[in-house]
Amino acid sequence: MDLLNTLVDKGLRRELPTREEALAVLATTDDDLLDVVAAAGKVRRRWFGRRVKLNYLVNLKSGLCPEDCSYCSQRLGSKAEILKYTWLKPDDASKAAAAGVAGGAKRVCLVASGRGPTDRDIDRVSKTIEAIKEQNEDVEVCACLGLLTDGQAERLRAAGADAYNHNLNTSEATYGDITTTHTFADRVDTVQQAQAAGMSACSGLIAGMGESDADLVDVVFALRELDPDSVPVNFLIPFEGTPLAKEWNLTPQRALRILAMVRFVCPDVEVRLAGGREVHLRSMQPLALHLANSIFLGDYLTSEGQEGKADLDMIADAGFEVEGTDTTTLPEHRADAVASGCGGHGGGGCGPCGDGDTGAAAETTGAPEAESPAPAGETRADAGGARPDLVAVRRRGAGTDLAPNA
Ligand code: SF4
Repeated sequence: MDLLNTLVDKGLRRELPTREEALAVLATTDDDLLDVVAAAGKVRRRWFGRRVKLNYLVNLKSGLCPEDCSYCSQRLGSKAEILKYTWLKPDDASKAAAAGVAGGAKRVCLVASGRGPTDRDIDRVSKTIEAIKEQNEDVEVCACLGLLTDGQAERLRAAGADAYNHNLNTSEATYGDITTTHTFADRVDTVQQAQAAGMSACSGLIAGMGESDADLVDVVFALRELDPDSVPVNFLIPFEGTPLAKEWNLTPQRALRILAMVRFVCPDVEVRLAGGREVHLRSMQPLALHLANSIFLGDYLTSEGQEGKADLDMIADAGFEVEGTDTTTLPEHRADAVASGCGGHGGGGCGPCGDGDTGAAAETTGAPEAESPAPAGETRADAGGARPDLVAVRRRGAGTDLAPNA
């Protein structure tokens, strides 16, 4: 297929595809799926080999958020029966992080619900970062605390945060449909503050919220312009008790096409398979490793993931290897830019308020919901059936007395 040959050539040269080419990837049929995966897999292997980076989420503060992000189980008015707790003590957070590191994670993502941190919250998180780094100085720490105000990014960087996550989530044009309490521009601003402070930026998206193909391409192009080092791709977990509970729009094939499109647009960036992979890719998860070079190990913020051992087995069975701490994740040209702390890579990349399980965890109650109409730009074949049986609220790990999944 000429399209795929062109996209591979561009990906190997780190050249931006056109919007039409990105849209064409999303419009390919299931007959073309393995060709699409193979083509994007060539780009993935050029920049990341067969390595898979493992990341581990610690939810420092769960639920009770005043913001109204429709996808999120922690939002204002959420009826999802998730764990709700206030800030974990630094030692408890450090213990949770240690479980992930022992399982093979090289990055720990410290996430807190809320619009953004107070200066006192920055103090708490700084102590938590210190406690984690005391136990394991090689672990990368990414903070994800919401919208930052002046000076907070610099304080986190000084405390040892390597990265900051804040997702764009969806296109600017549809942002107001999913959230009214902050704007797309607010999110862009926070990513840029993190970059300016010398942190590696992590910023990604959530697919499956009823957006069109054009919206998906828009948000991925917006991310490319911001130029994060990592891009988490979340697939909406339609939690009962949230406004998007009936949005079951994804099939495994569509999820793979989306990942391939992201890989072509962001060829040399850490593309992370994030929340919703178990729910939407199901038994096709190993194919996604040919596209993404990074995954979360264990549970998400408010929902449970596949067992850690199953992830490690899947990686080995698919012929990939877990990336060690002695290996630099990013290709040399990007790693050098991060190490210089120049903040000059135009933009950012990691998770959420929104990362991990799209914050959008929602418990499952009762019978499957009716299938929602296929969003504009998708074919009926792309609309998935509801599978609330695959959504499990997290009941172990941080904030509980039970051992975490790692
Ligand atoms: S995504 Fe973050 S800001 Fe939005 S409702 Fe959830 S916890 Fe709050």
